[in-house]
Amino acid sequence: GLTYQDRTTGESHTLELQGVFVQIGLLPNTEWLEGSIELSKRGEIVVDERGQTSVPGVFAAGDCTTVPFKQIVIAAGAGAAAALSAFDHLIRTTAPVGS
Ligand SMILES: Cc1cc2nc3c(=O)[nH]c(=O)nc-3n(C[C@H](O)[C@H](O)[C@H](O)COP(=O)(O)OP(=O)(O)OC[C@H]3O[C@@H](n4cnc5c(N)ncnc54)[C@H](O)[C@@H]3O)c2cc1C
Repeated sequence: GLTYQDRTTGESHTLELQGVFVQIGLLPNTEWLEGSIELSKRGEIVVDERGQTSVPGVFAAGDCTTVPFKQIVIAAGAGAAAALSAFDHLIRTTAPVGS
């Protein structure tokens, strides 16, 4: 079975069960970006369909973003799109003087 505490009421409950599927890994480790890049209320990096973040020239992909589906094939595709977007950004941007 499963004994758990309701975080809203503090009440303890017990369920008699034959099996449990544990779902983990829903919170992105993006605290270090707070204040520099727009994050959703769940801490996901806000991106558009090109992987562009709120900071021009900074791209993001994968589960840590606002992409609606957190699956391997989605993250891989978004990574490819973000890389192409970064390339596209670089060829349209003048290099800094002295570089
Ligand atoms: C339990 C579980 C089961 C899953 N099962 C499936 C499944 O069956 N099929 C499927 O398609 N998807 C599944 N997923 C989802 C899949 O794992 C993710 O969608 C995918 O791994 C996302 O890839 P990602 O590169 O965006 O992130 P991740 O694979 O999470 O990679 C992020 C990497 O960044 C590193 N990192 C974090 N913070 C920092 C930092 N500050 N500096 C440097 N590195 C950092 C992490 O250590 C990690 O290696 C599952 C996920 C979980 C948690």
